[in-house]
Amino acid sequence: MSNKEAGKSAQDPLADTHELIAPEIPRGIDRRSFLMRSAVGGAAAVMTGCSQTPEQRTAGAAATAKPEAPAAAAPPLAPDLNVVKKGEGPVLTTVDEFYKVGPGPSSSHTIGPMRITYDFYQRATKLPADQLAKATKLQVNLFGSLSATGKGHGTERAALAGLIGNEPATVDPKFLDGLRDKPDQVFPVKLGSKSIDVSLKDVIYDATKGDFKHPNTMTVKLLAGNDVLLEQEYYSVGGGFIERKGYTPPKKNPPKYPFRTMKELRTHADTNKTTIGKIILANEMSITGKSEAEVYAWVDKVINAMVATVKSGLSMPEDDVLPGPIKLHSKAATVYKRAMDDKFQSDRGIGVLSAFALAASEENGRGHLVITAPTGGSAGVMPALVYGLLEVRKVDRQKVREGMLAAAAVGYLCKHHATLSAAEGGCQAEIGVASSMAAALTATVFDAESHVVENAAESALEHHLGMTCDPVAGYVQVPCIERCAFGAVKAWTAYAIASNEIASRHRVDFDATVTALAETAKDMNSKYKETSEAGLAQSVTLC
Ligand code: SF4
Repeated sequence: MSNKEAGKSAQDPLADTHELIAPEIPRGIDRRSFLMRSAVGGAAAVMTGCSQTPEQRTAGAAATAKPEAPAAAAPPLAPDLNVVKKGEGPVLTTVDEFYKVGPGPSSSHTIGPMRITYDFYQRATKLPADQLAKATKLQVNLFGSLSATGKGHGTERAALAGLIGNEPATVDPKFLDGLRDKPDQVFPVKLGSKSIDVSLKDVIYDATKGDFKHPNTMTVKLLAGNDVLLEQEYYSVGGGFIERKGYTPPKKNPPKYPFRTMKELRTHADTNKTTIGKIILANEMSITGKSEAEVYAWVDKVINAMVATVKSGLSMPEDDVLPGPIKLHSKAATVYKRAMDDKFQSDRGIGVLSAFALAASEENGRGHLVITAPTGGSAGVMPALVYGLLEVRKVDRQKVREGMLAAAAVGYLCKHHATLSAAEGGCQAEIGVASSMAAALTATVFDAESHVVENAAESALEHHLGMTCDPVAGYVQVPCIERCAFGAVKAWTAYAIASNEIASRHRVDFDATVTALAETAKDMNSKYKETSEAGLAQSVTLC
């Protein structure tokens, strides 16, 4: 390179692209894939200020470039899983199953595994005393996406916490932080008269690829030497929901207004001259046998917990750094303060709504308690709207309660016919569904007719279709935290459009978009389903 060219390159780091591409292509590596990865890695290094030599980039690109990378769709889910079969009958999900409190950062990778090992522990305690007397070891094996990105999510800590008797809703996040800071801790687990020591070493990151019934598969075993006393295969199927091999769902009472689709749900609301929220309330009461006051008491708990996560996130110091190798600085408090100083009201609105979502999502990134709505990764979206409507707009709390039920209906339908699991459907299934729920919440709070509620939910979901899941370094931080802010703003935009258009002219119905979500999930390359094997997880250079 001439001096002139060198000077030009110093001013404009992207002027000479040769510097970004390592010259040597390792044997056996597909040339196109290698050059792409090398160039992307080089560009990312320059843009982020990280210095990498061409040789380092060669090593990085060779490590990630596959000899041949066919566009592999993920293997289909086993047809006998309840999460697959459930699409055939009416929606029977209830709010206390759906909105779950638990530690972040991921409902499928922390709350689900903790529920699973807690369930196994309960089952193990019921074994005959003579068998328990022989027990020597408890062992957890993580497979598929749980193994691929579990380390970044703290899955091993969540699994161990469940094994020693902790439940997601009541576990102290400081206990999980303590496990991260002191990973060699050993805990006694009481099984009958026997006490077995367990530690993080008993949670094994096993095969990431294989013929699994679900991408989030794990096994838990109670051993007596090499003999298995009890073994169970489990699946964390998204949103903190779990199943086990041979699982049959508990029998439930029939809903007052059975529905399988948004069309049927809306017909119930319109025929009975009521709202979607009230139909869901009536169903909740008939399925669970609870009174109206009991249902709303639960919904209030969820609302209060959402408000608390936003408040807690906003109160964190502006220079707080989230756990993990990204060293991501918290920005909720800064965005909030600066947005409040904005002289334009509309900019202020978008800024503070984003700040609320960032606040709750950063709490998730810290592993603090969040509410699945529908998942941990998307746990900033609904709280942002709930907080904004209750604490800023000061709307009537009863409207928010009804909005929470309408939002739940949207989540139920997505779970029923598609998925809430990023390991099955990418980020469209998490942030997309969360945004759709938040749009339904907002429309309900502002007394929109049922058609507008549907259109708002449809619009928010439609504009997340195809969105992949590619968390950098396997941590639910980048792109997840900002993605919650975008999901919240898109929810508001969806409501704004739906409430200002003529509802009957909206050409896409919610049910069609849920079908598109399901089909897109099936076709999506498995690399983009919470494996951290592609997308941002590959192009971002950490240093
Ligand atoms: S990219 Fe989306 S789906 Fe994936 S972990 Fe982050 S928030 Fe969840």
